[in-house]
Amino acid sequence: RLVRLRQRLAGSGTLGKGLLGLLSREKLDEDTWEAIEDLLLGADIGVQPTQELVERLRTRLRVEGGEATDVRAVLREELITLVDPTMDRSLHVSGAQGGPGVVLVVGVNGTGKTTTVGKLARILVAEERSVLLAAADTFRAAAADQLGTWGERVGVEVVRGPEGGDPASVAFEAVKDGVERGVDTVVVDTAGRLQNKQGLMDELGKVKRVIEKQAPVSEVLLVLDATTGQNGLIQAKVFSEVVDVTGIALTKLDGSAKGGIVVAVQRQLGVPVKLVGLGEGPDDLAPFDAAAFVDALLG
Ligand code: GDP
Repeated sequence: RLVRLRQRLAGSGTLGKGLLGLLSREKLDEDTWEAIEDLLLGADIGVQPTQELVERLRTRLRVEGGEATDVRAVLREELITLVDPTMDRSLHVSGAQGGPGVVLVVGVNGTGKTTTVGKLARILVAEERSVLLAAADTFRAAAADQLGTWGERVGVEVVRGPEGGDPASVAFEAVKDGVERGVDTVVVDTAGRLQNKQGLMDELGKVKRVIEKQAPVSEVLLVLDATTGQNGLIQAKVFSEVVDVTGIALTKLDGSAKGGIVVAVQRQLGVPVKLVGLGEGPDDLAPFDAAAFVDALLG
């Protein structure tokens, strides 16, 4: 899995290699530290974490300096600390008291929401769970069709409503169905129209309320496209202000040289990255692990 992760993170790998190259210079002068900072900022780690990391590295490499220092090991340790290995990254897909677990998937259109729902269903099915998908993005007919295709591909039924219908009623029907049939997990794909905050709040709030008439929402996954950088983060933040997000699915990490966004998003939203998207195929979604991620970065 690590080899695969490395291959997929080829873009982000340049960050690890660049850092190692700079830190291995014979003299760590101010120009070198500046270049290190630029590299980190360019990888979207964010200003504050960049300063923290550089400070830690400066101290540790000064104190432990000398030929014997294993620069790679120090960098690895500090990067893992930055990504935070202590966060609980388990996905809550099981329900309480015999009811289904409900995973609500939110985020801006185009970030990879529907694809992530499909891939997640695949993982759950592989774990021998019974799964039901809800196409609660009723604003775009194509969205429901796309989810339908994923449902066929992974062998999972999709509940959908009329185009232009009420997203909350689709979510309601799907969870009702899930309760009646005793399925393990219902995954709800929502619309990601970036309307004003109040509109979004009303819409997602209603979806959540009607679901919770039947079963508690066990996980709210926010999907964020890694290639959209700080801009994407600002948009994602709106969602996190509207619903209680419990985890991040960071997509398109395969197409981004900016793996540092993992750190930035966790800091800014205060929620762990739980899943990463590493491609467009059905098997290209992986649970996130801090150490494996840093190892892949360092190549
Ligand atoms: P939605 O509008 O948020 O539901 O986004 P979609 O699921 O339709 O995805 C938008 C595009 O991003 C599609 O072409 C997907 O195949 C692509 N995509 C989604 N996740 C990933 C990923 O992890 N890596 C890559 N390379 N592409 C992805």
